[in-house]
Amino acid sequence: MNLKELVQNNLKLNTSKIYFDEQMTKHTTFKIGGPAEVFIKVENIEDLKQILDFTNKNNIKLTVMGNGSNVLVLDSGIKGIVAKIEIKKFDFGDDFGDTLKNQGSNQTFEECPKNQDGNNFEITVGAGNKNIEIAQSLLKHELTGFEEISGIPGTIGGAIRMNAGAHGKEIKDLVKNVTVMDYNGNIKQMQNEEMQFEYRNSILSKEKLIVLEATLVFQKGNKEEIQNKMKEYQNWRKEKQPLEFPNAGSTFKRGNGFITAQLIDECGLKGYNIGGAEISTKHAGFVVNKGGATASDVIALTDYIKKEVYKKFQKHIELEIQILGN
Ligand SMILES: Cc1cc2nc3c(=O)[nH]c(=O)nc-3n(C[C@H](O)[C@H](O)[C@H](O)COP(=O)(O)OP(=O)(O)OC[C@H]3O[C@@H](n4cnc5c(N)ncnc54)[C@H](O)[C@@H]3O)c2cc1C
Repeated sequence: MNLKELVQNNLKLNTSKIYFDEQMTKHTTFKIGGPAEVFIKVENIEDLKQILDFTNKNNIKLTVMGNGSNVLVLDSGIKGIVAKIEIKKFDFGDDFGDTLKNQGSNQTFEECPKNQDGNNFEITVGAGNKNIEIAQSLLKHELTGFEEISGIPGTIGGAIRMNAGAHGKEIKDLVKNVTVMDYNGNIKQMQNEEMQFEYRNSILSKEKLIVLEATLVFQKGNKEEIQNKMKEYQNWRKEKQPLEFPNAGSTFKRGNGFITAQLIDECGLKGYNIGGAEISTKHAGFVVNKGGATASDVIALTDYIKKEVYKKFQKHIELEIQILGN
């Protein structure tokens, strides 16, 4: 039996949707990548557990992703099952964020656990909630602390895996605890200290764990100030980042004591291209897809950048984008 037949005969998911030979160009901000053999939009924890039981029993590879904002999928695609985590915990429906659908409870923001002086609000969000959705909901409820993160494309699950950050703040500064599932389907809650957050890294690069939800801490703020800050950061992104072309954010990590984009710029590489992949003329830290770029183009280009930076500055630089596929 091939994988498609195995999945069709064995997986009986509640609400999650299954796709076969799904083009990953549709699910990555880079708009690059071959097909996923099986692609599942995972909407709830029970379905994820069932998928893990199935992949373990049948020895099938499982790849986890969020919004696909920091990944490069190889041209040969991804064998096995790709689980796109869309587990949400806020209700982003008509009463947008008024009710925290806390597994059946009708808890509201006002009823969220607070600290002793009543200023810290603990909000639990699903791994599949997008940063911008959360930011808009927090704005409505005049809660501050998330403005810096609000413009980072992606989900909370991806932000935790990458310890995403901008404007001097990282997701680790907001996390109280994270609920994860291991690849045997066991669920546990991990405190901030246990997550081993580092610059663009967390325990999730070392241990096979899937983020299900996270409790974040915010403060009561002023609506206008929150809105102004969000706008300011949004404008900064429009001005500095090549948002007009598909990309996956900063291609390389910041170096130890140097800014990688600056070194790439000083190598005179802005605008250099291989196939459809180009070093942005606007920001040397971004590789952009100028049209029809393949993963091979991006890899050839990033290898070239690494070589040139080493030649000129004797510095090794490390990819930030995560490579998925075989
Ligand atoms: C235009 C642009 C600007 C960006 N600016 C910034 C920035 O300012 N700061 C910054 O830090 N990043 C930035 N990024 C990168 C990206 O937005 C972040 O890394 C983001 O947190 C990725 O989230 P995602 O849901 O898209 O994760 P994905 O890209 O889907 O996945 C990233 C990694 O996380 C893993 N993962 C995803 N979800 C889960 C989960 N639920 N459980 C376990 N592992 C999971 C994946 O396996 C993969 O290894 C930018 C990207 C773009 C396109």
